Amino acid sequence: MAYGDSHRLFLQNMLLVRCTSQAEVERLHAQANNQFPDAVSEPLDTFIGSINGQLDCINLELRSTLDETAGDRVWALVNTKGDEIAKLATNYSPAELNAFKHVIELIVNAEDGNFSIASSVCLNETHRQLTSNTKMQTQDFLKQLVRDQWLTVTDNGYYVMAPRTVLELQTYLQDEYGELIRPCYLCKDIVTKGQRCDNDGCETVMHLFCANRYIPVHNNDCPQCGQSWDRCIEFGDQVHSAGQLEQSRIAVSRSRASLAAEASEAPMANVKAEAMSSDDEDE
Ligand SMILES: [Zn+2]
Ligand SMILES: [Zn+2]
Repeated sequence: MAYGDSHRLFLQNMLLVRCTSQAEVERLHAQANNQFPDAVSEPLDTFIGSINGQLDCINLELRSTLDETAGDRVWALVNTKGDEIAKLATNYSPAELNAFKHVIELIVNAEDGNFSIASSVCLNETHRQLTSNTKMQTQDFLKQLVRDQWLTVTDNGYYVMAPRTVLELQTYLQDEYGELIRPCYLCKDIVTKGQRCDNDGCETVMHLFCANRYIPVHNNDCPQCGQSWDRCIEFGDQVHSAGQLEQSRIAVSRSRASLAAEASEAPMANVKAEAMSSDDEDE
């Protein structure tokens, strides 16, 4: 079926939400069909295919991936060409974009491949990038990144990449950090939260939900090197929470006192801590 009003309405709603769940996409699809009952209703995948056909010439695409934590499908409108991260410039200043890139770099380079960064470290490092900001403004900026679904905070205060970042900045992440970010053995999407083989010479990584599906029916061994998967190492938010992220409990709402206390006890606070210790208290 040709692209029509129902597709247009659906796309407008997707522009508003940017990144959303499968359930919400199904709801918006039903809503678009109800609004224009005369149009032939297409199944969701055909419907999205029609929209992507229109978006192709402006280098946009509705794309989905599995949320690395919950395993649920999430959808986003993504740029398919060029410097993806530069496209965020409409919402952030150049300095803020650089600061966001720096946060991603810290997450990707986190100690022990944990793909997460303590909120206190993140705040200090980001503040170093945004030199004209007050610390409160830097906190607000981080809060905005969480609200805009680029970052998520685990329930014990570690920043990790949110599904939107993994979806929309996929090409950027692969170009910049190809060596550090590996694809899941099972689903082939990149893994920033999951499990990896403990064997030093083996590069197998899997999302938790992929491992749960694959490993038990394959002798509980690593599919590439054969070492027992019981010895796998968890990374990303798996390290820091029981699996449930709590977006609302973000570091920026905390008092400086509690941030300081956390910095002294957080196991990962040593990420670049030495480099930062000299200007932690720069206000
Ligand atoms: Zn996977
Ligand atoms: Zn292995």
